[in-house]
Amino acid sequence: MTQSKEWYHQYYLKNKERIKLRTKKYASEHREWANKKSYEWNKKNPEKAKAIQKRYAESHKELIVKRRREYYSKNRELLLLKSCGYHIKSGLKLKREVLSYYGKGKCQCCICDIDNLDCLSLDHIKNNGAEHRKTLGYMSIYSFLKRQGFPSGYQTLCMNCQWIKKAEHQRQRRTLSR
Ligand SMILES: [Zn+2]
Repeated sequence: MTQSKEWYHQYYLKNKERIKLRTKKYASEHREWANKKSYEWNKKNPEKAKAIQKRYAESHKELIVKRRREYYSKNRELLLLKSCGYHIKSGLKLKREVLSYYGKGKCQCCICDIDNLDCLSLDHIKNNGAEHRKTLGYMSIYSFLKRQGFPSGYQTLCMNCQWIKKAEHQRQRRTLSR
């Protein structure tokens, strides 16, 4: 250590508390500067920063819960909107995954190959969709099938092909009942 460094170190040790207080006061008066400094320090010392955060979280549990509650009640609508966006996105992702499985590896209609997700849906090959839907309750058919490990008996069809299939099925039933 050079002499001036040594001198400063000694000075720091002697006046530690006073210096700490002064820095704290300066930081509270210069929030933006302090935030930037702490952000830079955290980036340079990720492990230490993590340990400090953990220590802080453990010793300030109640305060953190209180702040979180306050933040939630202040931003309730925004947070709800955000989570809605998340649900829509994850719902679409699941729909695409299931329809791709039942579209023979592609997210498209098994009959006419149309691939617009908006007009695709799942077809019960044996035409027992109505009964099946009753047993599902609030669960969507897509999550049901994924949870069941993609059982057989389904195919991806577009709405047009579903209508055509339905009409043919009804015609067949009428001719059979005659
Ligand atoms: Zn089709």
